[in-house]
Amino acid sequence: MTKDKSFSSKNNLLYLVATPIGNLNEVSERFISVIKEMDIIAAEDTRNTGSLLSKLGISKDFFSLREHNENQASEHLINLIKEGKKVAYMSDAGYPGISDPGYLLVQNALKAGIRVSTISGPSAFINALVASGLPTNHFYFHGFLPAKEGEAKKELEELKEKKETIIFYEAPHRIIKTLNLLLNVLGNRKAVIARELTKINEEYIRGDLSELVELDETTLKGEMVVLIEGNKEIKDISDKKILSLVGYYKKQGLSNKDSIEVVAKELQIPKNRIKKLVL
Ligand code: SAM
Repeated sequence: MTKDKSFSSKNNLLYLVATPIGNLNEVSERFISVIKEMDIIAAEDTRNTGSLLSKLGISKDFFSLREHNENQASEHLINLIKEGKKVAYMSDAGYPGISDPGYLLVQNALKAGIRVSTISGPSAFINALVASGLPTNHFYFHGFLPAKEGEAKKELEELKEKKETIIFYEAPHRIIKTLNLLLNVLGNRKAVIARELTKINEEYIRGDLSELVELDETTLKGEMVVLIEGNKEIKDISDKKILSLVGYYKKQGLSNKDSIEVVAKELQIPKNRIKKLVL
């Protein structure tokens, strides 16, 4: 067990800084004051972050920490912090580590005994979720689906029974293809496209998947989040109740297979759920 107090000292501390997802006015006072204190900024795209900071009148030294060099660059970052330098990491938009580099960096920093803290800001999926109108009490963030259709389908099959609101990131050139895949694999459900969040063209499109697939792709420009209602068909029936009913039918002389079939019909739940419990 380790206990790290983020505010105990400014040494040996790595800041992960959330950046605007489109609207520069979302830069906070804390963002500015922490960045001003830093000696060096590690960035996913040094040009991008350089231009953000120059708009804020801040000039800093940078180095690049991207997906393809995350391990190596995090070693460099850790050495700088060990030498007493103040370093923050920023990805291109939103939070590092959310469909962006950051996870390996945090792992490596913690292993090296460096404390990790965040500077809060927007994340596309949180903005999209809270305004979507879909349930926010339980949700599952999936991020990007694989580009290959077969792999994407396989991942979606595994999400079929999730009751939580499901959240995807998607690119505009693939959106209609992805919506069709979602409809085919998950069935018709309520869905929301949240696009261009925090920007002048921000738009929420709410409907059923069968309606959204009919949208004209040329009207769906920019960055977007896709949210899908969880599986509403899965009833709130406890595992204990299922197992005791299967036990009952087995005592009556039914085989495992037949008991599963009868219980699935009786409780109107998928056979797979019972199979997982019984086998
Ligand atoms: N780290 C980011 C975060 O915390 O949200 C996500 C980075 S990921 C590489 C980029 C994807 O996030 C985009 O393809 C899009 O799906 C989503 N995204 C980013 N900015 C957005 C915006 N302003 N509106 C809608 N979606 C956005």
